[in-house]
Amino acid sequence: MILIDGKATSEQIKKEIAQEVLLRKEKGLKIPHLAAIIIGNDGASMTYVNSKVKSCMQVGFNSTLIELPENTTEEQLLHEINILNLDKDIDGFIVQLPLPHHIDEQKIIMAIDPLKDVDGFHPVNVGKMTLELPTLLPATPYGIMELLERYQISTSGKNIVVIGRSHIVGRPMSILLSQKRKTGDATVILTHSRTQNLIDYTQKADIIIAALGKAEFLTGEMVKQGVVIIDVGITRIEDNSKKQGYRLAGDVHFESVSKKASYITPVPGGVGPMTIAMLLKNTLNTCLMK
Ligand code: NAP
Repeated sequence: MILIDGKATSEQIKKEIAQEVLLRKEKGLKIPHLAAIIIGNDGASMTYVNSKVKSCMQVGFNSTLIELPENTTEEQLLHEINILNLDKDIDGFIVQLPLPHHIDEQKIIMAIDPLKDVDGFHPVNVGKMTLELPTLLPATPYGIMELLERYQISTSGKNIVVIGRSHIVGRPMSILLSQKRKTGDATVILTHSRTQNLIDYTQKADIIIAALGKAEFLTGEMVKQGVVIIDVGITRIEDNSKKQGYRLAGDVHFESVSKKASYITPVPGGVGPMTIAMLLKNTLNTCLMK
């Protein structure tokens, strides 16, 4: 079994980005600038945003963090987005999700300039991705594609089961892997909570992308020998033996599945760090397009 080391791969990608930034500095070219808007003080969201800002510093990007209170109105948020859309120095920005219930998430995503949408969630970018046109890919699926490529895991003609059909992970994953491309050309089955007899699909899968958000859901008896496992899930499980009072669990029961897998991503240290690296890559790409 080979452990797919997302942490090491993401560090390598960040090193490549940092080198590119250094070259740009030497040539007097613009330094990429990523901005993030966060609303409220949800612990997990704060952690994600802070590590994004930290990663920006690591690769030499400029970064701006805009922290807004929980009671920010939709209009106020749209106003902030408009400022970032018009700011020539900002190459890309994200609005950290989830948003408070009084704000329409779709309306917010639609307001972001597609050329600065480094999360790749805007319908224009989703449409371009679906039509196989060059665009900003959503960071988590982009990171998974990168892991498959860098570990030279062949997907052509393989049976791939994606568990979960969210707009940010499962569905784009199923689209990318079914496309006519090097890491693609797979026969993809997209499953969800209404799928009947999921095990019938998972037991036949050469590759499984688990993105349903249910801790340790996929167990050893659900997979075949030699399967490749990409575990996207991150769930906090109460654990008083840990300093922070919880541990992180993936959607895969690592102990039983890893015994049968040929490749597997751990949680933490698998897909998670790749998401941030690809967000930086998207920001660099938007800067290069100028
Ligand atoms: P989501 O929006 O909650 O979607 C979950 C999907 O799983 C839905 O399509 C749901 O089906 C499906 N599902 C739920 N129970 C199921 C079951 N028993 N069998 C089959 N499918 C089932 O989740 P998400 O945003 O995609 O996130 C999924 C997980 O990945 C979460 O743990 C999240 O924290 C993690 N995540 C990690 C990263 C990273 O960087 N590593 C990035 C994003 C998300 P329905 O559509 O029928 O409801």
